[in-house]
Amino acid sequence: MKDKSQSPTRAHRLVAAGRWLCGHSTEQAYRFAQRAVQEAEQGGEAERAALAQALNLLGSIEIGLGQPGAARVSFRRAREGALRVGDTEVQFKVANNMALLHHTAGEWHSATQQLLLAQELARQEGIQVPPTLLSMLQTNLAGLHNRWGDPERALHLIDAYHLQQDPSEIVRAYAQLGQATAHLLLAEQSGQLERFAEQAQHLQQAEQALQVVYSLPPEELSYYNGRCELEARLLAQRGEYGQAIAHLTQGLSGLQGRYMDGEIDLQLHLGKLQLQRPDLKPEQRGAAQQAAEEHLKTALSLMDRWGKHYLRLEGLELLADLYERQGRLPEALEMMHQVAAQLRGQVTRPSPDTDLLHYPSDPQTDDASQAEWKRRLQLAEGLARRDSLTGITNRRGADEALPGLLHQLRAPTQSLHLMLIDLDHFKRINDNHSHAVGDRVLQSLAKLLPEVAGLDALSARYGGEEFLVALSGARNEEARRVAEQIRLRTMQLVWDVPGLRVTVSVGLTRAVLHDTVGSLIARADEALYRAKHSGRNRVVELAPHVHPAPRLPPASPA
Ligand code: GH3
Ligand code: MG
Ligand code: MG
Repeated sequence: MKDKSQSPTRAHRLVAAGRWLCGHSTEQAYRFAQRAVQEAEQGGEAERAALAQALNLLGSIEIGLGQPGAARVSFRRAREGALRVGDTEVQFKVANNMALLHHTAGEWHSATQQLLLAQELARQEGIQVPPTLLSMLQTNLAGLHNRWGDPERALHLIDAYHLQQDPSEIVRAYAQLGQATAHLLLAEQSGQLERFAEQAQHLQQAEQALQVVYSLPPEELSYYNGRCELEARLLAQRGEYGQAIAHLTQGLSGLQGRYMDGEIDLQLHLGKLQLQRPDLKPEQRGAAQQAAEEHLKTALSLMDRWGKHYLRLEGLELLADLYERQGRLPEALEMMHQVAAQLRGQVTRPSPDTDLLHYPSDPQTDDASQAEWKRRLQLAEGLARRDSLTGITNRRGADEALPGLLHQLRAPTQSLHLMLIDLDHFKRINDNHSHAVGDRVLQSLAKLLPEVAGLDALSARYGGEEFLVALSGARNEEARRVAEQIRLRTMQLVWDVPGLRVTVSVGLTRAVLHDTVGSLIARADEALYRAKHSGRNRVVELAPHVHPAPRLPPASPA
């Protein structure tokens, strides 16, 4: 425990001032917190307790400033310091703050862990936690259980706590919102199981929970936003989609420019509702989809503007879904690329807490959500290795696959042939017939390659109008035949575009043991270069011992 008899040091006073400033000027509070950390660091052993407090304060300000990485470091140091001096109060605060941090990063599992830790610490003797804070903690924990799809547990947490305690009015309001959310989830679940009596009951309870807090003024904007969203969900569940949309739109106008999180939330919700409403006639769907696209794009641009990147995932997935339904596959793929990038960022981010605590959490929700996470990641990762125009492997996928293929060469009976295939005078095709025709040519060639080379071969779009085929286990004659077939079949493609002639040049080479991916590609490229310069529409093969000459700038094209 802290030594309360000690008179406050300079660092302590800076922390106190920083805390007070938080409510007034974040910038100033930030400066004070930084100074407090510096002074406490210089104070050595005597200032350990103050240092932990200062770091905790700094971290909480860094969250507000949108610096989650810095906040993570501050909290980790604060926790280490608090553990060393045995200050459970600071440990409690750090756990709460880290939960918030994880929450803003969309890391629900870690957020739950931290709240459980805070709860555990709060039970320890000698630590004073105001009832409102404890109550908020419980409500947040319930909110996370709702997120995990465990409304029963959420209800249990809220009921067990709030019925005995007397927290502030606003905390009660949040608890009611949590209850309403849980009942709505339960209504959805029972609806899916066709237990309609139960569904009606939960809907009624959700409505009741909302009624209790209707009397509260909408000043508390995040609460207002949550209420608005829940009311719309209730309406939607009752089949009144038009009204739900009107309600959200009205709510949005009340929040616009005042509460960024709420604005983003409601835009997302509107997009989702427009996209998923089942009550529309086919001829009305186009307009609804257009509205959905606008809402989702607005939500995403607001997230970008305000650095709310953790919210992007849902927006991106909804847009991908929308584009897919409209047959806009390249755009859908682009969204999935972004989903992949986002997921990679979140999944590979180290969790600093796992070594400090290991809480048994609900294994069922855990495994299920982990599996779902993995499935989405795999799907998105797979898409990230596909070319969005043609659907075949892209350069990134090829670059990742080639080292493995080369490695297999160590088995004595293995072989690997590489070809680079480049469309001849493709620029003219674009110029003479349009870019759209050019795109169709690329798609046709992409379709043809696996047909000729076989599904076991790696066929990839390696650059703009350049493709790559890697054949494993083929003899030299076979590889030559495949290359020649690619050239012939391209020539024989039938086009409904007058005057369009499409040919390719192919560079072919065989890999040997001492090859690297770089040397192999350079040789295939040299072969391709020779094919181009000896008249195009041909296959040129280069033996493995030929080392590509340094390339001169190409002569101006004929
Ligand atoms: P060469 O026979 O020497 O290969 O001549 P080329 O015209 O094919 O080669 P160049 O490298 O001069 O031009 C390639 C063109 O491919 C330029 C670029 O606009 C076009 N291109 C690249 N990617 C795409 C695409 O995705 N769609 C379309 N339509 N054109 C593309
Ligand atoms: Mg070309
Ligand atoms: Mg080219």
